[in-house]
Amino acid sequence: MRSHEAGALHGDFGHGPSWLRPPTDVNDLLPQLWASTVERDAGGVVNVGGISVVDLAAEFGTPIYVVDETDFRERLAAFKSAFFDRFGQGSVYYAGKAFLCKAVARWVDESGVNLDVCTGGELAVALAVGMPGERLAFHGNNKSEVELAAALDAGVGRIVLDSFDEIGRLTVLARQHGVRPKVLIRTKVGVEAHTHEYIATAHEDQKFGLSLAEASMAADQIIAEGVLDLAGLHSHIGSQIFDTTAFEVAAKRVLGLHHRIAATNSVTLPELGLGGGFGMAYTTQDDPQSPERLADGLAKIVEHECAAYGIDVPHISVEPGRAICGPTTFTLYTAGTIKPVELDAGQLRCYVSVDGGMSDNMRTALYNASYSATLASRVSDAAPVLARIVGKHCESGDIVVRDEFLPGDVAPGDLLAVPGTGAYCRSMASNYNHVPRPAVIAVADGAARVIVRGETVDDLLRLDVG
Ligand SMILES: *Cc1c(COP(=O)(O)O)cnc(C)c1O
Repeated sequence: MRSHEAGALHGDFGHGPSWLRPPTDVNDLLPQLWASTVERDAGGVVNVGGISVVDLAAEFGTPIYVVDETDFRERLAAFKSAFFDRFGQGSVYYAGKAFLCKAVARWVDESGVNLDVCTGGELAVALAVGMPGERLAFHGNNKSEVELAAALDAGVGRIVLDSFDEIGRLTVLARQHGVRPKVLIRTKVGVEAHTHEYIATAHEDQKFGLSLAEASMAADQIIAEGVLDLAGLHSHIGSQIFDTTAFEVAAKRVLGLHHRIAATNSVTLPELGLGGGFGMAYTTQDDPQSPERLADGLAKIVEHECAAYGIDVPHISVEPGRAICGPTTFTLYTAGTIKPVELDAGQLRCYVSVDGGMSDNMRTALYNASYSATLASRVSDAAPVLARIVGKHCESGDIVVRDEFLPGDVAPGDLLAVPGTGAYCRSMASNYNHVPRPAVIAVADGAARVIVRGETVDDLLRLDVG
């Protein structure tokens, strides 16, 4: 279930979504939105891993992405214990596309969780830290021959096939390399889940995967040729999924095909990939499930379906991305220009410009995503105002946080922290307007270190060989 706050919006604060109301105390840090070691110190300054954001800003500048390493490792461990207990070793792959760098790849490696990559670049990061190929899965709808060959060279554990073209390409390469790679076939099961809604029609019309009918033919072809080792089927139904209902529809369909392929070809398909997309909390509107509840829910669904088909339960794997890295990180900005904008008579919205924007978080512009924010460098008793946190880019859609209440005395030079930016922010960052991409700082046990260096204008000019 998702929580909904009813609260009325007070006219003085201007317009916002109907659920948005000024918090009881605008200085509060709501635990579901912040990494586990984040708190305000006695002076009211936000701390993470025992270090104050004022010190982080002084040492590293802003904007920066600040990762709570302890929290990241805890989330990996929570998924591992919940899923490995129910589905066996290796049943969790961290979806590296959400955020990957060498430090993160090491944390994943050390946790025992596997890693899912979807380009040669992501594969290179995993290999750079010595992650064993066997613990990698390789996704993507248009892997090149070079990428597939790199995957074979690395001994990647699972290649998730996305098209007949790719089956042809990989078959040729596997013969050349004299190897028999384990593959899964990505199916589109006609279910697409986004946030809490899912619809079971009309999602064949997208680029990923093979329809159930195509996947059925592909499986028969792979088994007949015998060059690739078909381990099973895969389905990924979307993102920000908060309950297991959509997985139930997907699992039913994909297990129906799984059963058909195994029976008609007299083979066992030992595995089933159920994808990622488990939701995280960006605002108080999101109420994610714990890894235990997710694992329980999926186990019940799969066991029930397998019993109905009279088949053994295959080895289940999942690929959480944002649910692991998203909540671990906040972006720290410095407030600059502050501009009150009159909406209706007497109603104001306070536009707070920060020193980053859509180049370090394009999700608001791209998906109309919701985020929250807090004044991080101090607490304030000033009455809250409805604010919109915007960037420094030349687009009116350059919004980081669409609606948030901030203390009315927010001023240039204040530090603002936007939580939940660990997934798809640094990994999707751009250099729009020649803005260098920010550094990623990992904090743990009172120590902070750069894990991805921030770009400089010199970095940008170095690429510009004109
Ligand atoms: C994007 C993706 C994921 C991860 O999605 P999250 O929403 O970050 O959990 C997992 N598997 C596949 C195939 C994906 O494309």
